[in-house]
Amino acid sequence: MTDDDIHIKTEAEVVKMRAAGLVVSAALDAVRAAIVPGVSTAELNAIAERVITDAGATSNFKGYRGGGSTPFPAVICASVNDEVVHGIPDAGHRLREGDIISIDCGAVLDGWHGDAAFTAGVGAIDPAVQKMLDVCEESMWRGIAAGVAGGRLGDIGFAVESYVRSQGPYGIVEEYGGHGIGTQMHQKPHVANHGRRGRGLVLRPGLTLAVEPMIMMGRRHVATLEDDWTVVTADGSWAAHFEHTFAVTPGGPQVLTAPDLGVQRLAAVNRGAVVGSQPIYSERSIHS
Ligand code: MG
Ligand code: MG
Repeated sequence: MTDDDIHIKTEAEVVKMRAAGLVVSAALDAVRAAIVPGVSTAELNAIAERVITDAGATSNFKGYRGGGSTPFPAVICASVNDEVVHGIPDAGHRLREGDIISIDCGAVLDGWHGDAAFTAGVGAIDPAVQKMLDVCEESMWRGIAAGVAGGRLGDIGFAVESYVRSQGPYGIVEEYGGHGIGTQMHQKPHVANHGRRGRGLVLRPGLTLAVEPMIMMGRRHVATLEDDWTVVTADGSWAAHFEHTFAVTPGGPQVLTAPDLGVQRLAAVNRGAVVGSQPIYSERSIHS
């Protein structure tokens, strides 16, 4: 991969991506608040769609064509229990106490994209499953924390994988991963959830990436259902998925889809003090 394939954003462009990221954050917050036993995944989709529309944004999920030929029909992916990613919202699918659900959502504002995801329990869930969710989320934060200028792309995958492996025998999905993001939802480079430290693309300020670990209680293998979208675990074990969009900046990673730019969680990873919200990007030009 050459640097020519990589879209480095200007500071002003990162600011636009932040605006898109906040729409995604608001949509996910609204969905999170509505996750209760009895709600349908189609109702959750309608909630997200309202937030996106009210913000003057559009969905980058609805109508998206992936590897398959069927356009995605909704603004969120809603993946329940053994569904890993790309689940299609369904009015007939109502959540039950003890389920887990992964919500993935994106939005486009002024031509710039945001993309984020979380997994949550429906009511009370099995503590071992909750631990998997926590491990998946923490691995995402550790991957983002590794996204520093001058580092390497492999540092991110290494941080994700090594943390997950340290926590238990979880499967880590290899067929899907994170990606560059900007004027399209999916840009180069691919951001794997495994990697070797010190290897791969040099991370530069203005590089904007989505980091999105997917892990499961069982083995890592997945299959795609006949709907052309829904990815399930091959062994039926339950799975988790967390994602944020962040920018590599001179001052460290800034998480564009987190209300506080990720300051608190990144400080925890780095065992540093919380210093409050940073300004977006920095006064320094990225053009060098
Ligand atoms: Mg996503
Ligand atoms: Mg993504």
